[in-house]
Amino acid sequence: MKFNTKTVHGGQHNVDPAYGSVMPPIYQTSTYSQTTPGKHNGFAYSRTANPTRTALENALASIENGNYGLAFGSGLAAIDAVIKLLKTGDEVVSTNDLYGGSYRLFKKVFEKFGIKFHFVGMQDASQIENYINENTRLLWVETPTNPMMKIIDIKACSEIAKKHNILLAVDNTFATAYLQLPLELGADIVMHSATKYLGGHSDVVMGSLVVKDKQLAEQLYFIQNASGGICGPQDCFLVLRGIKTLHLRMQRHCENGNAVAEFLASHPKVEKVYWPGLPSHPNHEIAKAQMKDFGGMISFTTKGNVMADAIKVVENLKIFTLAESLGGVESLAGHPASMTHASIPKEEREKTGVVDSLIRLSVGIEDQDDLIADLKQALG
Ligand SMILES: *Cc1c(COP(=O)(O)O)cnc(C)c1O
Repeated sequence: MKFNTKTVHGGQHNVDPAYGSVMPPIYQTSTYSQTTPGKHNGFAYSRTANPTRTALENALASIENGNYGLAFGSGLAAIDAVIKLLKTGDEVVSTNDLYGGSYRLFKKVFEKFGIKFHFVGMQDASQIENYINENTRLLWVETPTNPMMKIIDIKACSEIAKKHNILLAVDNTFATAYLQLPLELGADIVMHSATKYLGGHSDVVMGSLVVKDKQLAEQLYFIQNASGGICGPQDCFLVLRGIKTLHLRMQRHCENGNAVAEFLASHPKVEKVYWPGLPSHPNHEIAKAQMKDFGGMISFTTKGNVMADAIKVVENLKIFTLAESLGGVESLAGHPASMTHASIPKEEREKTGVVDSLIRLSVGIEDQDDLIADLKQALG
């Protein structure tokens, strides 16, 4: 089955044996009747499994070319489950330009339990091995990165992971399965904040994991049930509905992303544009090799690098909404230095490129002429 069919039908057979509804019903129930103790129709308690969640988990596994899907109450709950595969004394090598919440979870929650994290610039994958020792259990990779849109070579990372017999997990939130398939490139675990493109309509918070290996899946299902970071059936329904149009939305996000990136690159008030589809992007060749297209996430800086100029631009925007988050049908703009990355000291954030005038766009699916006109008037 091709990707554009999988988004609609993947893993969705016999979702409603009772009435044949085309969409799986929202099974708003915590528990299920049994005929004799332990005898039931496959569902006993909704923390362990719920039919609406199972339908979504099957869809997730299908679109990522995996065998097992797991849905969680948020992207961070999904990451939390991955780190719980580890134990005290274990070490993780992670990308250094990663989602702030992931960094906070690693540093502020799991370091207390004696798990050690190394944050490494991975655009040159050969750097990774310097941080691997006999305690290393996991490589954590995010690509494209947030907000600098750096691209990391997933295949090169997987070769390193295999050589040292450690797990490779990829946060695929920005790209989605439409643009890249980490499991096909050798990753063991693919993770999503389904809050973003999978849900796609800024109306739900959810996370997911997909794996190929049965034993790894069993460990993760155990953690999902034992720790209980699950999502409700209503939210599962919304994300399942979102996935059905993922390919259509992503196609438009990419087209609009391309148009907006080219417009910005030619604007006299714009200094730099970070979008992996531009030939000037330092990792453009890796992006071309591992991604089908380049997505709708773009960052750029204004000439002179003055914070007030950048803030004026985001305030002036009318169609782009000034807001956190990304991946919805509507275009959003953010100012990382004062919003998502405000808690990181200026010197520290500037090392990764998050300068005062950096603006991040999540380009939506509106008409690109309107988006470009909006940016034009906002830049002045
Ligand atoms: C939003 C996000 C997360 C966290 O997901 P939540 O659903 O907000 O918990 C993790 N990684 C990336 C890349 C994200 O954008």
